[in-house]
Amino acid sequence: MSAPPRPQPRRGVLAIDAYVPGKSSAPGVARVFKLSSNETPLGPSPKAIEAYRAVGAHLEDYPDGAATDLRDAIGRAFGLDPDRIVCGGGSDDLLNLLARAYLADGDEAIHTTHGFLVYPIATLGTGATPVVAPETDYTADVDAILARLTAKTKLVFLANPNNPTGTYVPFDEVKRLHRALPPHVLLVLDAAYAEYVRRNDYEAGIELVATSDNVVMCRTFSKIYGLAALRLGWLYGPSHVVDAINRIRGPFNVNAPAIAAGIAAIEDTAHVERSRAHNDRWLPWLTEEIGKLGLKVTPSAANFVLIHFPDAKGRTAADADALLTSRGLILRRVTAYKLPNALRLTVGTEEANRLVVATLAEFMGRPT
Ligand SMILES: *Cc1c(COP(=O)(O)O)cnc(C)c1O
Repeated sequence: MSAPPRPQPRRGVLAIDAYVPGKSSAPGVARVFKLSSNETPLGPSPKAIEAYRAVGAHLEDYPDGAATDLRDAIGRAFGLDPDRIVCGGGSDDLLNLLARAYLADGDEAIHTTHGFLVYPIATLGTGATPVVAPETDYTADVDAILARLTAKTKLVFLANPNNPTGTYVPFDEVKRLHRALPPHVLLVLDAAYAEYVRRNDYEAGIELVATSDNVVMCRTFSKIYGLAALRLGWLYGPSHVVDAINRIRGPFNVNAPAIAAGIAAIEDTAHVERSRAHNDRWLPWLTEEIGKLGLKVTPSAANFVLIHFPDAKGRTAADADALLTSRGLILRRVTAYKLPNALRLTVGTEEANRLVVATLAEFMGRPT
């Protein structure tokens, strides 16, 4: 049979399983705690909300297409050259732009087994092939990534820390990965959770970007800055990569409220510090308390934990999800991440965290 006479998307597009975001409601439950999308329980800086509102008086004006003030603010906050920063509509936007700029039909891009789902989606959308490198203990494995390099490899995506596992690759290992890559392969370090990491062997990638020609770091305002609704991310890269992305990005790919709120958010370091302190208190608490119930929790460096459930009837992740949801506790099923019997839990408010542990205790048949 010949193809029907209608427009056909490019190769790869129909192979994409569309991204399904975490649930955000529980039918019939009045009070819902959304712990499914790694959002901050503290919300954004009040100064960011104020800056966002102020833009409402000028909605007829196009934003600054170069997002100059925002890039300057990011540059000041991180000690970076603003000319080597590109902002985007969430880091998803930037990951897709990187794929579009550097991948074509027949190329390969490597990501890891439980890596962020945007990587294969962005890859397939260009006609290139996603290549999966196995992980060890739910952690990216540098040797496994290197073993999958071929003459067709153009890009390596590494979420560090990774979502949904929460594990991270120490900087020494990231450097070892980079050293072994051919110079024409672009290493994309996705550091969406960098602000949460408290490990002295971790580095988001700034040093590596600054000293090489084939590394890019992506960051987001969606997580610790609490601006997920505005869609705002940025990348720091070599000048030649920045130049390529600036040629293909939308001319006004970041909206004016996002620019204003982003500047205020990044300058409110006290608010960021509070969010970090909240996580420092509750991430270990959740890990320990859930572990005490006999459930395996993957050690996390981010603002969420991956909880593994027994394979026993009535005790699976799906069973736990049903009970938690009936109590208004929305966690994330991660079957699409090849983790059919696990749930991802975002660190929430104290109230939410305590409720989750109490509900899981009930689920496991243990009194609290
Ligand atoms: C949440 C997240 C992002 C951020 O996405 P945005 O598009 O900026 O909201 C990027 N990478 C990973 C691994 C994430 O978990």
